[in-house]
This record gives sequence, structure tokens and C-alpha cells, in this order.
Amino acid sequence: MRKFLIAANWKMNMYRQEALELIRGVIEQTKLFPSVDIMVAPPFTVLETVNGEIQNTQIRLGAQDVFFEESGAYTGEISPGMILDAGCTYVIIGHSERRQYFHETDEIINKKVTAALKNHLIPILCVGETWEERKQGRTFLVLNQQILFGLQGIDNEKLSSIIVAYEPVWAIGTGKSATKEQIQEVHAYLRGVIKEFTSSNEMAFNIRILYGGSMNPKNAQEILSQKDVDGGLIGGASLNIDSFSSLVQIA
Ligand code: 13P
Repeated sequence: MRKFLIAANWKMNMYRQEALELIRGVIEQTKLFPSVDIMVAPPFTVLETVNGEIQNTQIRLGAQDVFFEESGAYTGEISPGMILDAGCTYVIIGHSERRQYFHETDEIINKKVTAALKNHLIPILCVGETWEERKQGRTFLVLNQQILFGLQGIDNEKLSSIIVAYEPVWAIGTGKSATKEQIQEVHAYLRGVIKEFTSSNEMAFNIRILYGGSMNPKNAQEILSQKDVDGGLIGGASLNIDSFSSLVQIA
């Protein structure tokens, strides 16, 4: 059976002191729910701070992005090995904010997923359509391309460790999540794409697919109860101890 993962994407928020307070509160309020996997992805500058706090808890560390080269003259970039060295288990790749503001293409994202896997990190590959694309009836086409290009050339053995996050761009940070029907429809579709891609029912069944986009303690119950939803990737609500901890409790 697939285990729920509740994942926090802190985005570009949290100075050291705030990060300490947040992670300490989350540890305190989630320790009674060990059956849920929890990931926290802070900004690079506080990875070490957060890592120091989560030792001997069920919380694992994630990075919000990674570069695909191992080392060298790439000013400002951070390699998969460095992220691993900082204590990360997971890495978010292809978030729509990276695609949109930093012009990340499916090709770049594919290189990042490949490099992360090579370094034994668990990639959380984000996919999602814009409102324009949904209106034009292109949702499935867009998602299909993002998955197929994002995972190109990766063999089944490696693929078994990846996680997919469906984040409709129009639902991120808007306070308006997709409906449970829209979410279930897309998640089932993505599972089908994975099945085709891997030619394996088992792989498709086992891959975890998270939902992200204005998920909060009010709507989490109905979203997480959908059959193909295996957890959440949380932005805004992950910045508050009570909200994030409630999401873990609900899962
Ligand atoms: P919000 O939860 O703020 O909508 O953000 C979702 C997200 O982008 C997580 O990666």
C-alpha cells in the first residue's frame, strides 16, 4: 500500500530564527503521527539549521531545486551531491514557479531528475497545467508531455523511487484549490501515463502522486480521500505550525 507523504515547500520564506521556530513546532505537533511520511523543503540557506532539528524524527529534508552538473564553474548553482551532503532525502524538481520565472524546460527538468536519481535523491517531479491550457482543453496533453519528457531515458528500477506532484498552476497560492473530481481525474490519468511509460501495472500502482495547490486543513480531508491521491505538496499552509501539523494529522 502507498504511504501518505505530506510535503512542505517553504519557497523563498523563512530566516534562520523563523525556520527554527517553525520546524520545532512541527516536530512537537506531528510526533504522534508516525505513520505519515513528512518532508520539509526549506530554502538552501537554512537546510543545515532544519537538518539539525529533525534528527531522530520521522521528518525528512528536501531541497526546492537542484542543478544537474556534479561540480564546476556554475556560479550560484547547487549540485545533487551538495544537497545530499546537506542532509536531503528529497528534491523538488520542475515546480511551475521554476518553469515560469526561470524558464526551465522539460529538457532541463529531465536532466535534473536524472542527476538527482544518480545521487540517490528522491525527486518530486512537479507537473501542472495553466488556466489557459485547461480552458483550451489541453490539460491532459500538457501533463502527458511534462511526464514523458521529464522522465525520458530513466529506467524502471530508478523510476520506482520517484514521486509525482500534480500542481495545477491556477490553484497555486490562489486560495482556490482544484475540486476533488478534477484532482482524482488527473491523478488517475497520470497513473495511466506512468503505466504506459513503464509497461508495468505494479509501478503505476506503487508510484506516489501528490496534489499541490491551495491545500489547507479545510479542504485536505476531501482531497486526501481521493483514491489516487497519496499526499500533498503544501506551500502557504506549510508556513504555519498549526496548519501544517493539521494536514499531517488529517493524512
Ligand atoms: P500553495 O499551497 O501556497 O498553493 O502552494 C502550492 C505549491 O506550489 C507547493 O509546491
